[in-house]
Amino acid sequence: MIVAMSVRATEEEIENVLKRLEHDGYAGQMSRGAERAVIGVIGTGFPEDYKDHLEVLPGVESVTRISKPYKLSSRDFKPTDTVIDVRGVRVGGGEFVVMAGPCAVEGREHILETAEAVGDRGAVMLRGGAFKPRTSPYSFQGLGEDGLRYLAEARERCGLPVITEVMEPSEVDLVEGFTDVLQIGTRNMQNFPLLRRVGQARKPVMLKRGMSATIEEWLMASEYILAEGNQDVMLCERGIRTFETMLRNTLDLSCVPMARRLTHLPIIVDPSHGTGKWYLVKPMALAAAAVGADGIIVEVHPDPDNAWSDGPQALTPDNFGDMMKALESVVEATGRRLWKVPATV
Ligand code: PEP
Ligand code: MN
Repeated sequence: MIVAMSVRATEEEIENVLKRLEHDGYAGQMSRGAERAVIGVIGTGFPEDYKDHLEVLPGVESVTRISKPYKLSSRDFKPTDTVIDVRGVRVGGGEFVVMAGPCAVEGREHILETAEAVGDRGAVMLRGGAFKPRTSPYSFQGLGEDGLRYLAEARERCGLPVITEVMEPSEVDLVEGFTDVLQIGTRNMQNFPLLRRVGQARKPVMLKRGMSATIEEWLMASEYILAEGNQDVMLCERGIRTFETMLRNTLDLSCVPMARRLTHLPIIVDPSHGTGKWYLVKPMALAAAAVGADGIIVEVHPDPDNAWSDGPQALTPDNFGDMMKALESVVEATGRRLWKVPATV
């Protein structure tokens, strides 16, 4: 249910509605638009006449039931695009952001070198896994806390905010202490305790689409994070499972304009995991920009042939530079610009 406050509603009237909801056992989440405040009412089993009770409260303009199963992520609740500030890099504000780095942090020198290479070529955020969700328990699992430390050192050196994955609710505190964006991987898109926990974090979250999840399930997963109070959620399409075997996944770019219609959350595309092949990353990155994604996240490695994970899909720094040059004109053709210089780092 959505309570739209009148443009003339006072702070006291808004507060009064929130108090009333709390009293009745519902949680109210407020979103302030340019003109008016809108309150999303979270709960189930509203009494038949509850809408009428809210509608007569002072300062209330209208009350509508949201028929969609996702509420806080929907444009019905918040028509305007969400813009997330990550240490001065604005995600979702009309500029196009490029996050780049290795699949996994392999060592201190490795991440420092890669951070410099991607930063010099136009990346504005550094990616790198310290806790890796590997298909096999015998594969490299990441450097853990050491990896987080190296990432933080790379940030201090290069000024690039960091995005890294968190896999366990019990590790959110630790990871949050080092990173600027918490990444939820495809395998954890429906790990509800983890989603709830990052919903309580004070850092933005990037929610990757489950490899077999529908767009609606993806939005429902974002709802778990939003409902806990964390409004800074970005979505990431990273490819889904289809009958195709030649590609690691099928990058579903049509989900970008579809999700854009349905949700106000920023949408990032991962053409690396989406294809599994380095030579497909550039064309799919350009396509992601063309369909209106807010940015991309790509894997770059100084020596892909010897990478500890996902080497076949990693760009060399030179290939990354080549992609960045081509990206600029596509982004501009869509009436936006590549985000270049972080305002504050
Ligand atoms: C990653 O980005 O490091 C990763 C493991 O991706 P995904 O969860 O999309 O497989
Ligand atoms: Mn990877």
